[in-house]
Amino acid sequence: MTQTNSSPPSDFIREIIEEHLRTDRFKRRVATRFPPEPNGYLHIGHAKSVCLNFGIAAQYRGTCNLRMDDTDPSGESLEYVESIIHDVRWLGFDWEDRLFYASDYFEPLYQFAAQLIKVGKAYVCRLSADEIRDYRGTLTESGKESPYRNRPVEENLDLFSRMRMGEFEDGTHVLRAKIDMASPNITMRDPILYRIKRAPHYRTGMKWCIYPMYDFAHCLSDSLEKITHSICTLEFENNRPLYDWILDQVDVDCHPQQIEFARLNLSYTIISKRRLIELVEKGYVMGWDDPRMPTIAGMRRRGYTPEAIRNFCAKIGVAKNDNLVDISLLEHSVREDLNERAPRVMGVLQPLRVVIDNYPEWQVEEFDCPYHPKNPNMGSRKVPFSRVLYIEQEDFMENPPKKFYRLAPGKEVRLRYGYFIKCVRVVKDPKTDEVVELRCTYDPETRSGFAPDGRKVDSTIHWISAEHSVPAEVRLYDRLFQIADPASKGDDFMKYLNPKSLEKLTSCRVEPSLKEAAPGNRVQFERLGYFCVDLKEASPKKLVFNRIVTLRDSWAKLSEKEKK
Ligand code: ATP
Ligand code: MG
Repeated sequence: MTQTNSSPPSDFIREIIEEHLRTDRFKRRVATRFPPEPNGYLHIGHAKSVCLNFGIAAQYRGTCNLRMDDTDPSGESLEYVESIIHDVRWLGFDWEDRLFYASDYFEPLYQFAAQLIKVGKAYVCRLSADEIRDYRGTLTESGKESPYRNRPVEENLDLFSRMRMGEFEDGTHVLRAKIDMASPNITMRDPILYRIKRAPHYRTGMKWCIYPMYDFAHCLSDSLEKITHSICTLEFENNRPLYDWILDQVDVDCHPQQIEFARLNLSYTIISKRRLIELVEKGYVMGWDDPRMPTIAGMRRRGYTPEAIRNFCAKIGVAKNDNLVDISLLEHSVREDLNERAPRVMGVLQPLRVVIDNYPEWQVEEFDCPYHPKNPNMGSRKVPFSRVLYIEQEDFMENPPKKFYRLAPGKEVRLRYGYFIKCVRVVKDPKTDEVVELRCTYDPETRSGFAPDGRKVDSTIHWISAEHSVPAEVRLYDRLFQIADPASKGDDFMKYLNPKSLEKLTSCRVEPSLKEAAPGNRVQFERLGYFCVDLKEASPKKLVFNRIVTLRDSWAKLSEKEKK
């Protein structure tokens, strides 16, 4: 990581924590938690929260719990729980034995609700959902009190226990906090704490037919786990008074500090579980782990490293106001990390056959090629060279414009790690007029990559010995959306999907050293970008590579050109 221990990152959250350490608010303890709801896979926004919560715990020698915030049965599942566990671990964080489930607190939560009723701070309300909304008032008008607000405590206790026993239909009764219907903060106008919902919960089955609302469950779960700093996203700012109110009414010995920060928004993608589910369910992507998805699973499959994601999260920091982070910054972190560690190899995505007329048919040479230009410790491998090669179609033009420096009729280029070759003839398909083969000559004196007579070439291109090459499929990914801020389009966001976000190339050829490449292996194909053997669809019989990221930011270049 770029961050060093001597200069830990600082931000407003860490400043608050340091203030609490100075004033001994929590007996010098720091305890955080990452509380995902298992109703979808984790995305890059969650990674920001994971890095923040686990990072703070590590920095202040505290603890960070992983808690499944699973108090709403609809949409939650074990598959999601398992994916979350896998993803947080893959990101490099450890919760030791502190994996918790809010659903394990259903009984204590029920008891806390009963306590609230007993102190006259909660009541069972029979208004319908619509009525509750109407009674709530608006930002400019205060709300109206429910006719059920002043029931005696005994009656409330009885009704609440009958709600639990399943005596009432869904939606007919709710438990509400008795706070203030005239509060300027609408969240404080007698919010709902419990509702009746007959739905199987993936852990508790049909044991419960009442479920606590987020605001009630979250503060109490934090308190039960003795969390000191409950870090959440900005949209919960108005809920903080309720968080504090609940903990002030009931008998708890830990009252955490809620702190809000701005959620991560990333350009050219969408970061909301609800929307990501839509992409998956409607088949716009191949699943949660589609390499174009901003999910941890997608980024892992694409070939991003946990280090790159952590570095990205450190770079963006935390702030109090919403903004849109440029996805190029994430790609930059990925490049920066892979530049250090990815071995360099050669692969040809769109092969063009080259025959070297003056190279003996029977001859094969082996070039010793280093895996990394700056890191000799990564070693080298032998790359065979023979009479028939493949080069990239893009590296040849029959009628090149002035600034085309690569191969063309009569032109000479250097082959990476090898000889100069010169194109002497172009072979075309007589029917389609398509270039199918180049006849070239090589200069045996240029094995070192330089000509003894000092003549220069304009470029160096990559190549593969045809006979020794290994077939591969390569999947090129581009941005999932065509516009920078698809989230701003609301429910229409799908209209802005980039139709060219996936391009499959099926007749690629790669060098023989990759024959045994294992799923998850990452390499740089010289001049092309960083690639990763697909975790799911590659097999010993079929190599499948995902392009992780290009070598340079082609989008930045494009928009610069557009500006001109
Ligand atoms: P979504 O809006 O994608 O459905 P969520 O907030 O409902 O996300 P949770 O499972 O409740 O998802 O989130 C777990 C934690 O991750 C919460 O503390 C939440 O604040 C945080 N989180 C979620 N999305 C982001 C984001 N984009 N940036 C930073 N933190 C996030
Ligand atoms: Mg949530």
